[in-house]
Amino acid sequence: MWYFDILVMDSRRGIQMTTAVELHIEQSVAMPDNRYWTNRFEIYSETSDRVYVISQNILKRYWGCSCPGWRTRRKCKHLEALGLAPFEQPQEIEAHHD
Ligand SMILES: [Zn+2]
Repeated sequence: MWYFDILVMDSRRGIQMTTAVELHIEQSVAMPDNRYWTNRFEIYSETSDRVYVISQNILKRYWGCSCPGWRTRRKCKHLEALGLAPFEQPQEIEAHHD
């Protein structure tokens, strides 16, 4: 299981953020890698019951989100809130094995 350093945004839902690009993803919201995406975790919409998935493209290293904003414009408030770059810009984060 991968853990990121500190991600603290909504502790009720297992995600928190203290700095822009150091993330700690709790096990309760972490999801397994698939063929194209790694560092995957669930986030909860503030405006609906939907659950979106944030993840990093394995080959190209950019971050994506499954919400409509990212899918249509490659920019969304979820990546922005976590300090992750929009528009498919590659971005590494500080990560640690737990
Ligand atoms: Zn999003």
